[in-house]
Amino acid sequence: MAQDNLTAVLYKTKDLRLEQTPIPEIKDDEVLLRMDCVGICGSDVHYWQSGACGHFVLKDPMIMGHEASGVVAKIGKNVKNLQVGDRVAIEPGVPCRYCEFCKTGRYHLCPDIEFCATPPFHGNLARYYKHAADFCYKLPDHVSMEEGALLEPLSVGIHACRRGGVTAGDVVLVLGAGPIGLVTMLAAKAMGASKILITDILESRLETAKQLGADHTILVSRDSNEAELVKKVHELLGEHPNISIDASGAQSTVRLALLATKSGGVAVLVGMGSSELTLPLAGAVAREVDIRGIFRYVNEYPIALSLVASGKINVKPLVTHHFALEETLEAYEVARKGLGIKVMIHVQPRDSNNPTKF
Ligand SMILES: [Zn+2]
Ligand SMILES: [Zn+2]
Repeated sequence: MAQDNLTAVLYKTKDLRLEQTPIPEIKDDEVLLRMDCVGICGSDVHYWQSGACGHFVLKDPMIMGHEASGVVAKIGKNVKNLQVGDRVAIEPGVPCRYCEFCKTGRYHLCPDIEFCATPPFHGNLARYYKHAADFCYKLPDHVSMEEGALLEPLSVGIHACRRGGVTAGDVVLVLGAGPIGLVTMLAAKAMGASKILITDILESRLETAKQLGADHTILVSRDSNEAELVKKVHELLGEHPNISIDASGAQSTVRLALLATKSGGVAVLVGMGSSELTLPLAGAVAREVDIRGIFRYVNEYPIALSLVASGKINVKPLVTHHFALEETLEAYEVARKGLGIKVMIHVQPRDSNNPTKF
């Protein structure tokens, strides 16, 4: 009898199904993973609701999931870094390793990167999934499988802060307090930011941000006056932020980032909204505000793991909802409604692979 490999497959817009798929065969440098935790990301919801995210378009059925952790079930014959039974966080993008970007260490820009649940590549929301062994990171016993899955969004936040050059004493403005805004804030704090102000359109998210350590918050709305918002940012911080990080992608927040950043500072754009925006560029240019884009993360999984393992960052409060794999559709519905922060799908019963009680 075939083994259970229940899998969440997105067939087309609004057509997400749970069905059996074959257990993957591993190559010599790969591991087979018995999946444990898979978080739902904004991009997953985009694919499900509209069949696309940014310039990636769903053409064929695709297995969902990219924020994940699992347990090694089988290793290929060349695998040296892992053993059967190891609990791992899975870095979802595996690059070609040969191109200019791979060779110069910016492998996230590799044009041939195969990234989980980004068409045409399958994700890992299944009982079993195979992955390149060197893109799996062994978790210490005291780091939970949920935390392992959260290293994915956390890596985005760390990458945003590193692109912005966040270091001791910086004054940071974060636009948007969704999961990415919050992990960006946590990363900025861990990297030494002295003051952080975070904005959002939902009071509930700002409450979470305060609990997680935001120094100041501003509730924005559609009809907020831009000039007044800039003034409020400067007043609350008592100075101009030298680094602004937009984790929303909305035109209004990118504008605010450019307007509020200190002369000579940096504005980092993480959020992905419309492909074209109307922005007050002249002022930013004349004040030498550097505008930096980011794409996912690179070489940041080990940093994310060490920050979580050492207790410098606590990502646990980000998970607000838990579902079993069988309840994937309900889980996606909760994520779509934007209730809570991070929705976690448990492929194995919760905590069954955690040696330590959490
Ligand atoms: Zn994601
Ligand atoms: Zn490459």
